[in-house]
Amino acid sequence: MNSIKKANFIKKLSEMAERDILSYTENGDLAPHSTFKIGGKADFIVRVQTREALVGVLKQAREDGIKYTVIGNGSNILFSDERYEGAIILTTGMTALSCEDNIIEAECGYSLTALASRAQKLSLTGLEFAYGIPGSVGGAVFMNAGAYDGEIKNVVTKTYYYDVKNDAFGEFVGEENKFGYRESVYQEKDGLIILGARFELEKGDSSAILEKMQGFMRARSEKQPLEYPSAGSTFKRAPGYFTAKLIDEAGLKGYSVGGAQVSEKHAGFVINRGGATAADVKKLVSDIQDAVYKNSGVEIKCEIKIIE
Ligand SMILES: Cc1cc2nc3c(=O)[nH]c(=O)nc-3n(C[C@H](O)[C@H](O)[C@H](O)COP(=O)(O)OP(=O)(O)OC[C@H]3O[C@@H](n4cnc5c(N)ncnc54)[C@H](O)[C@@H]3O)c2cc1C
Repeated sequence: MNSIKKANFIKKLSEMAERDILSYTENGDLAPHSTFKIGGKADFIVRVQTREALVGVLKQAREDGIKYTVIGNGSNILFSDERYEGAIILTTGMTALSCEDNIIEAECGYSLTALASRAQKLSLTGLEFAYGIPGSVGGAVFMNAGAYDGEIKNVVTKTYYYDVKNDAFGEFVGEENKFGYRESVYQEKDGLIILGARFELEKGDSSAILEKMQGFMRARSEKQPLEYPSAGSTFKRAPGYFTAKLIDEAGLKGYSVGGAQVSEKHAGFVINRGGATAADVKKLVSDIQDAVYKNSGVEIKCEIKIIE
């Protein structure tokens, strides 16, 4: 990294840090910022508190040619073991929220589970499925997160973004978000950073909503290996198949590479049994894909985003 540009970037970060709109670490450890608890170091880890700080850092990164990645809660990512030569920008400090009638607007860092709880307290139905999905609004929009009977697509009617390349703000309405199975327009286009989203929900009965949410949470803890670090389901569902069943049928339950293991409780989850590296996870993922293809002829695709 060019040292003058790096110094410029640090100057901008420290100015914003003095105004308490962000904090940052140089040469920071990435593992604590992913639910997998895996990762090397990054030149910068920046935690932004406001939209102004997020946009300010992104603008400066573009001007100084500093590589960046914006993340939410780090629940669907795998950091590399190698150094990230640039800035990892964490958004979970951006939690502005407004509610009016059946509409909630949430900033990108707002917790999805907390949002589902908020909706329940307002007697608004539609977000029950999201209760228990770890992550932020930004990550959920990016991934079109979903579970049980719902997905983001059904409740988000508008998303707001900052376009880093063109230094411009914009929004996508309805279909423009191109939500598909674990897909959105944000995965197609580079440099569009999600600032927030509008959720349109329906009036419901708050105790019925609560009961449904609690049922989903119980099902999660019964079926998922929540006692180990992971990034949730490792693979996308192959159309017409249950991925966990394919993995199980290939005889891989419990199979491990280094500290990474196919969960015995739920074969769709790769877990970190302790000390797993990104290289372990990548090798395990590729072994699983090969074995499933050999056993059933089905190609399974990784859902987790690799950040390097
Ligand atoms: C135990 C467990 C259970 C899970 N269960 C489910 C489930 O039932 N259903 C499901 O869909 N997922 C599930 N997941 C995966 C994960 O929770 C979701 O994908 C979630 O939406 C990720 O949100 P996040 O904030 O953690 O995103 P991150 O992991 O931080 O980021 C994911 C991707 O989004 C990008 N991104 C994040 N924020 C922004 C932003 N503001 N602007 C632009 N890009 C952004 C990142 O660069 C990255 O590519 C599970 C994960 C775990 C660990």
